[in-house]
Amino acid sequence: MIIVLLGPPGTGKGTQAKAITTRHRLPHVSTGDILRKNLADGSELGLEAKAYMEKGELVPDHLILRLIDSRLSEPDASGGCLLDGFPRTRVQAEAFDGDLSAKGLSIDHVLLLEVASEALIKRLSGRRVCETCGKSYHVDFNPPPAECHCGGAIVQRPDDTEEAIKNRLKVYQELTKPLVDYYEAKGLLRRVDGDATPQEVEKRIARALGDPV
Ligand code: ADP
Ligand code: ADP
Ligand code: ZN
Repeated sequence: MIIVLLGPPGTGKGTQAKAITTRHRLPHVSTGDILRKNLADGSELGLEAKAYMEKGELVPDHLILRLIDSRLSEPDASGGCLLDGFPRTRVQAEAFDGDLSAKGLSIDHVLLLEVASEALIKRLSGRRVCETCGKSYHVDFNPPPAECHCGGAIVQRPDDTEEAIKNRLKVYQELTKPLVDYYEAKGLLRRVDGDATPQEVEKRIARALGDPV
């Protein structure tokens, strides 16, 4: 099973990923998390991606496609995966479809999480994340403990500043939103209203995927 989580930054993709991957026994493949890990490790990819990420610009397609190709060839992804933050451009979506069909595979569901942009700014500017496992917290909606359950430190992402947030929302509108029509035309799009408590959104996602609630 291949599920794609689509939606602007801050809609709760990372937050919802855990429940979906547990239910469907899929690995959570977040291109943002993989890029941040590369950055922390100081890898060549991390160095190339850094400036784009800090400004809230997209990392070039060829780097992302190489990253995805390598991640999806790991054994845990042989039965599918939950993609979070990929594809983000038409070029990525078409290249991914091409790779999948060459292997006789295809995407099963594209879940579009929708939240109004004023609420997204609030969510992103109050977001705090675990430096180690990537779990998201929020200063008001889900206050972080002194340290994460995994023992990791709680930090604010360098791209969760007002300027980078605005740019990321703009980049989403211009480059990623067109994928809504692209996947709708293929009959894969499942729309979920993400403006509710995380527990309620979890139920809505389960219903959209046809899972028992
Ligand atoms: P958010 O959780 O705010 O949606 P992500 O963690 O998914 O953000 O991504 C953080 C940054 O990593 C993006 O702003 C972008 O620079 C880069 N990035 C992640 N995924 C992709 C992708 N598929 N294509 C291009 N850049 C990406
Ligand atoms: P994404 O991965 O789509 O960028 P996150 O899962 O990181 O989004 O969530 C963004 C911020 O919003 C985090 O601070 C998170 O704690 C908070 N958040 C997630 N889901 C909800 C929700 N249903 N209601 C309120 N805040 C939420
Ligand atoms: Zn953690």
